[in-house]
Amino acid sequence: ITSKLPQTGTTIFTVMSALAAETKAINLSQGFPDFDCAPQLTKLVAKAMKDGHNQYAPMAGLMSLREQISIKTEKLYGAVYNPDTEVTVTAGGTQAIYTALSAVIHPNDEVIIFEPAYDSYAPAIKLMGGVVKSLELEPPDYRIPWDMVKRLITNKTRMIILNSPQNPTGTILSMADIDELTAIVKSQDILILSDEVYEHLVYDGQEHHSMARYPELRKRSFITVSFGKLFHATGWKVGYCLAPANLMQEFRKVHQFLVFSVNTPMQAGIADYLKDENVYAGLPDFFQQKRDHFREGLSQSRFKLLSCQGSYFQCVSYQGLTDEKDTDLAIRITNEFGVASIPVSAFYSKGTDHHILRFCFAKRQETLDKAVERLLKV
Ligand code: GLN
Repeated sequence: ITSKLPQTGTTIFTVMSALAAETKAINLSQGFPDFDCAPQLTKLVAKAMKDGHNQYAPMAGLMSLREQISIKTEKLYGAVYNPDTEVTVTAGGTQAIYTALSAVIHPNDEVIIFEPAYDSYAPAIKLMGGVVKSLELEPPDYRIPWDMVKRLITNKTRMIILNSPQNPTGTILSMADIDELTAIVKSQDILILSDEVYEHLVYDGQEHHSMARYPELRKRSFITVSFGKLFHATGWKVGYCLAPANLMQEFRKVHQFLVFSVNTPMQAGIADYLKDENVYAGLPDFFQQKRDHFREGLSQSRFKLLSCQGSYFQCVSYQGLTDEKDTDLAIRITNEFGVASIPVSAFYSKGTDHHILRFCFAKRQETLDKAVERLLKV
């Protein structure tokens, strides 16, 4: 057969987690917590199963969950999304992203992405016959150069993908970014896919600029969100998409034939759990403490810490320490020192290597301490 994705191998998250398991290394590669989700949440899911929520959910998701999502979005961002027509429950963030792209990207449509970028965007665009227009952001700040974005735009530009807080760099969009973005999409009629799975992980008292907040952006945006990241339950693969009704209608045309619907008891349990807004109120502080603890430990190492404004990833530069490729070093540190990380070159379609590794700090303090102890030896 002729491959539809000849340049694509197995995702780096699978590769590094498998290596970590094989070598019994501490796994700070793939982004997931090593602590469990709240007992109350698993109790509510178990109750939902016992209560008989075990058949197909409605295609767009249980109404009780869509309502809670709508309430949460209004509370956080002052934006009202109609649960009936503007909210769809998905099998995690990645499925929501894929579905949104397949709903609106036609062959030869151009999609602008900012690299380093989550590794699903580019292959998904290509599978739709779209053209990836990637703009590489420069370390250490990774700011979006909006003048260059303007130059990338043609009459085929269909969409811009944003991810704030950004994986892997932990940068967040500022109000100035929002203004620049608004001016561009408004004049060119461009759609937005806003991957906001780390919406609650924004630190130092800064604000998350959800597309939902800004009417001019909201009306052209698919916003994708993850309960796995929100509730420390990445294995449940439940998330959702928000979009205005005209876009959501197209989204659901694909969703119904991709997954049809998402598992019912998880939805019922999460809907119950979400009734208490305190279940997410403490997240920024909880993760900021982990970030600070991990950074403090690593400040004694030979790595150079990059800034981390959000997400649960800390990037470090090893420039001057060794000339190895980042993939080689990530593998060697896993094998020789017992700590797995993600080489940031995996987030570039051209494989650009700035000698930076990404560590996930969504871990128990003892895990972070043990990892730091090992990393001090590198
Ligand atoms: N978003 C997670 C990360 O960056 C991984 C998601 C996945 O493995 N599909 O680590």
